[in-house]
Amino acid sequence: MDSARTPTSPSDAVRITAATGRALATEAVHAGRDDLAGQGLHAPPIDLSTTYPSYDSRGEAARIDAFAATGAEPDGPPVYGRLGNPTVARFETALAKLEGTESAVAFASGMAALSAVLLVRGSMGLRHVVAVRPLYGCSDHLLTAGLLGSEVTWTDPAGVADALRPDTGLVLVESPANPTLAEVDLRAVAHACGSVPLLVDNTFATPVLQRPAEHGARLVLHSATKYLGGHGDVLAGVVACDEEFAGRLRQVRFATGGVLHPLAGYLLLRGLSTLPVRVRAASANAAELVARLAADPRVARVHYPRIGGAMVSFEVHGDPHEVIGRVRLITPAVSLGSVDTLIQHPASISHRIVDADDRRGAGVGDRLLRLSVGLEDVDDLWADLDRALGERAPGAIPLREALSGAE
Ligand SMILES: *Cc1c(COP(=O)(O)O)cnc(C)c1O
Repeated sequence: MDSARTPTSPSDAVRITAATGRALATEAVHAGRDDLAGQGLHAPPIDLSTTYPSYDSRGEAARIDAFAATGAEPDGPPVYGRLGNPTVARFETALAKLEGTESAVAFASGMAALSAVLLVRGSMGLRHVVAVRPLYGCSDHLLTAGLLGSEVTWTDPAGVADALRPDTGLVLVESPANPTLAEVDLRAVAHACGSVPLLVDNTFATPVLQRPAEHGARLVLHSATKYLGGHGDVLAGVVACDEEFAGRLRQVRFATGGVLHPLAGYLLLRGLSTLPVRVRAASANAAELVARLAADPRVARVHYPRIGGAMVSFEVHGDPHEVIGRVRLITPAVSLGSVDTLIQHPASISHRIVDADDRRGAGVGDRLLRLSVGLEDVDDLWADLDRALGERAPGAIPLREALSGAE
């Protein structure tokens, strides 16, 4: 991959300049807020209206016709809350800036966002999806079960071009992938897709570490529940893309109803302002834990992506359920991307819904644990992990510690 665009450390990453010419860290605190000072405001207002009064029903008819034709946001107020919301629109504007796309469309969850993409393509008769494992467990399940009428072909990144059919509507990858942190060469896959839209789930990397649209992805999806919200208190999803696709997504959102609540939109906009700082600090903690885990005889293998980030996966020699049962500072819970550290056992929770053979085939082993590293002091985190990993097996003491008697 292009090293100028694929940062090797989080501190390099936050210096990336967005398409506007302003640095990512600047956009994170200003995008979606450009009109506030002119209105005499500092914090963004929260608009909780479900409906918007108008004495001009001819005008409203024209606005609805325009939306039905293109899916473009109506000028002025949105008519009805399912058509759009000004507070949510601020978050969408800001996320599009950070991902370097024309538009973004927010949904009630990451799964609602993925569903809307599948419905857009399916409604065009393009029901076939090519996807690379592993994906987030429920994304895998949605495709495998064909719940929305899609049909999936699983392949590896090198097999994407051969898997395409005339009715292929979408190619779907995650990089780094949940939960193995496997990375995909986005530029190569985008090239292999030809004219078929590539959707990259960028939940783990965030636009701070990777901006897939720059590598040729037409659609960039986030479970905004994770790093974008960042505090474990908002469920949300978003797709960053060109305005043409965004219009279709808004039409599907209007007709199927998976809208984001304005309070959630407010919290997400607020979350974006600290995203670069949170990702940088949590990644530094993660890199330190990776070094300590890699040197630990109780750990069989550590997975950490080349682009960095705050997600770490590792396989233990012992019983992973025992490790989960012994953490005290770290919270044993599914989800990720919060200010506090979470640990979970993918084979039991996040990827339980995937068939066991498919799961293992995708590299999600039964001894794998997934750690979402937060902002706590790294020595406190290590003390908790060290205790949770349990007794060091006799004879497996690292030579360095054995010689110094540090055990
Ligand atoms: C959590 C997650 C999702 C699903 O998002 P929700 O907000 O839980 O619906 C999708 N992709 C990835 C990579 C995730 O981690």
